[in-house]
Amino acid sequence: MAERIAPRDDIAVMEGYHSPQVSVDVRLNTNESPLPPPPAFVEAVAAAAISTAWHRYPDRGAVALRERLAEFHGVSKTQVFAANGSNEVLQTLSLAYGGPGRAIAVFEPTYAMHSQIARITGAVVAQGTRAEDLTLDPAEVQRVIAESRPAITYLCSPNNPTGMIESRQTVLDTLDAVEAIGGLLVVDEAYGQFAPWSALELVDDGRSLVVTRTFSKTWSMAAARLGYLIGPSWVVDELEKVVLPYHLDALKQEAGRLALDFVAEMEQRVSLLNEERGRVDAALRELPCDVWPSAANFILFRPTTVDADVVWQELVERSVLVRNCSGWPGLQGCLRVTIGTPDEDDRFLAALREVLT
Ligand code: PMP
Repeated sequence: MAERIAPRDDIAVMEGYHSPQVSVDVRLNTNESPLPPPPAFVEAVAAAAISTAWHRYPDRGAVALRERLAEFHGVSKTQVFAANGSNEVLQTLSLAYGGPGRAIAVFEPTYAMHSQIARITGAVVAQGTRAEDLTLDPAEVQRVIAESRPAITYLCSPNNPTGMIESRQTVLDTLDAVEAIGGLLVVDEAYGQFAPWSALELVDDGRSLVVTRTFSKTWSMAAARLGYLIGPSWVVDELEKVVLPYHLDALKQEAGRLALDFVAEMEQRVSLLNEERGRVDAALRELPCDVWPSAANFILFRPTTVDADVVWQELVERSVLVRNCSGWPGLQGCLRVTIGTPDEDDRFLAALREVLT
């Protein structure tokens, strides 16, 4: 056989993004909603599938969807960019503003795809580190921005996998530093609806700030792969140059638009999950575990008496899957559990109690 083509040198040495999917009864590892969307929504999407003009390309500008999102957030439709999951939003940002010769700043531990996507698009990752207690140290933020002059700086609030939120002041101070070096601040709010405040209120055409959101979590639509950002129109204009034509299929655009007819149901799910998070948090604190305060639909915890890898395996044997973060930098011994239904959470807590006591 002829010699095989090698990938780019930087891709060849890359590991790829892993999230093991094990077949279990209780899946609490990927921060999905444990509840499906309302049946009336599913029926509306089914009707939309029937009336879709399948032989035609979809609306390239996703205008109806963007108008609905703009109305929902009280912004202009020129300030909305939608894509296939917020991952594609992040990738498009990286393609437009990152790339070779540019740096992208992250503060680890945080959502692994921020640096993964940055590298794939050829940018250098400027890696900041969170403090020992996993909070964000403002001095570290200033240091990384001043030293690396990143094109994009990421904050994630609530942060995955810690669940912690950044304050309005932290976002404003970071934005000042980012604007001083001519960069763009991206606040990833995949879990924003669970949190007590949102950086969306700061978005304005006069600021170098975008906020990303997803339909995968609070909207119970992980299967649809739909996310978006709210940001200055001049950012959206650049993203539209970069993204593939017709990247958002017609039915997905319609599904996103229809979802916004069910805001009350979404808010009810969020408040149920927030309440449930309080219950799981309290139960974890009764066990030999360090627990981080979460404003998202998951909780990071560290068993203190049994090795985390053993706990993870023992939970799998009891048909409960959580995320094993113990190998991630700064998260030695940590596991992350997604908030499920009360029944799922009870199964998780009972299994964990058995393993730890
Ligand atoms: N940002 C964060 C912080 C996430 O945790 C996730 C999903 N795990 C995403 C973005 C991507 O979500 P999606 O592509 O499903 O919108």
